[in-house]
Amino acid sequence: MVDYIVKCQICNKKIANNKCKKCGRNVCEDHYDPSTGVCSVCKQGQFYKKE
Ligand SMILES: [Zn+2]
Ligand SMILES: [Zn+2]
Repeated sequence: MVDYIVKCQICNKKIANNKCKKCGRNVCEDHYDPSTGVCSVCKQGQFYKKE
């Protein structure tokens, strides 16, 4: 049962319901930005380099 649950690869605590479309991390809702479809790590990276 345990390996059925994918945990967030950022906080490693909550269940990952989302997948970052940029890095492919499985992330929880806290670390996922639905508007951009990326995790909070990638979102921060995007914030720096303006495209
Ligand atoms: Zn998380
Ligand atoms: Zn990401």
